[in-house]
Amino acid sequence: MAIILTSDQQDLTELVKNFMEKEVKPHIKEYDRKGEFPLELYKKGFELGFHLLNIPEEHGGLGLDHRTTTVVLEEMAKVEPAYAVTMFTSIITFECILLSGSKEQIAKYSEKLIPGALGAFSLTEPNAGSDAASLRTTAVRDGDDYILNGRKCFVTNGGYSDIYIIFATVDRSLGAKGITAFIVEKGIPGFSVGKHEDKMGLRLSNTTDLVFDNVRVSAADRLGKEGEGFKIAMMGLDAGRICHAAISTGISQGAINEAVKYAKERVQFGKPIIKNQAIQFMLADMDMQTEAGRQLSYSGAALLDAGMKATKEAAMAKCFAADTAVKVTQDAVQVLGGYGYSREYPVEKMYRDAKITQIWEGTNEVQRMIIARELTGK
Ligand SMILES: Cc1cc2nc3c(=O)[nH]c(=O)nc-3n(C[C@H](O)[C@H](O)[C@H](O)COP(=O)(O)OP(=O)(O)OC[C@H]3O[C@@H](n4cnc5c(N)ncnc54)[C@H](O)[C@@H]3O)c2cc1C
Repeated sequence: MAIILTSDQQDLTELVKNFMEKEVKPHIKEYDRKGEFPLELYKKGFELGFHLLNIPEEHGGLGLDHRTTTVVLEEMAKVEPAYAVTMFTSIITFECILLSGSKEQIAKYSEKLIPGALGAFSLTEPNAGSDAASLRTTAVRDGDDYILNGRKCFVTNGGYSDIYIIFATVDRSLGAKGITAFIVEKGIPGFSVGKHEDKMGLRLSNTTDLVFDNVRVSAADRLGKEGEGFKIAMMGLDAGRICHAAISTGISQGAINEAVKYAKERVQFGKPIIKNQAIQFMLADMDMQTEAGRQLSYSGAALLDAGMKATKEAAMAKCFAADTAVKVTQDAVQVLGGYGYSREYPVEKMYRDAKITQIWEGTNEVQRMIIARELTGK
């Protein structure tokens, strides 16, 4: 890793690495096959504060800066990207409340999130994906409450969350300016978890629909003002994309590690396959691209740590690291030959896991649109 870590960062990285290797890795194959959410494994991470990485210390978090957060997320994703994503989704939920919540909301929900509750951030709907501002879930004011109706989809942590940030519209004719954010707790009447996605990859992460059938939410649980929801949803996007880039880089690095190990052991034509220049060049390209993606996320994180804007850099990091993860994991399967295609070895799962990184947090097409917009000033 071409980055100089402080001794604190090294200790933390070592702790995460050991935890992932000992506590998580032995169970991955079983849970991946079943497509089951390993709640108990996540609870062990709560004890170490993995759901509070960059949450400020004064709010009960670890107070990590953006750069250190990317290092930690990469380390988790090297072993299991769903682990990093589950923790990170809880972090964004908490951050939304810290950035836009009232003192009362911060106090109320910190108490629940700090000890280790899962959070979820729910913007996407069946007819509103990339065009998130066209969402249709409605919030109608009724005295001191709002009544929510609609359906959300692809909600990470959907089935296991205790606290949800829900985006609904108070007036569809206003478009993005009608979108309003609410904090919704598990178990309130009319609110239920819908379909559970049986996914191609990232099967240790839980993804569900959410259904709102005349759900009464107190106005005290509205986050920010009416119409500020879209701004709230977009607020943490640059930091989020840099974190997602780090997760993609973790997937790539995990695949490189497996490919190098295998290529040293596998003997064909009387010598380990790594002695062939064709294999060496493939590994060299995999490593080069992974390092480039890593450096893009570090430079974006450094800008954010300096209090600067990083919209273009975050989009570049997310897009490049995701494309790299798909390419690198595909090449890792190639290095392992037929065994790479077999479920006996971990690289086929890495290949399946990598694909989602080009889709979520704004598809890679959307990232290219953002980069072009920053370039053209439009
Ligand atoms: C596993 C998983 C977890 C997720 N977690 C969450 C979550 O926690 N919270 C949440 O709110 N959402 C979540 N999502 C949703 C995710 O953010 C969306 O899937 C994503 O934004 C894309 O939306 P879509 O799937 O509707 O695709 P669409 O928007 O329908 O896009 C389909 C294709 O068209 C392309 N496209 C669309 N518009 C344009 C355009 N103008 N120009 C060029 N190409 C375009 C897209 O890039 C894509 O290739 C998750 C999704 C998955 C699969």
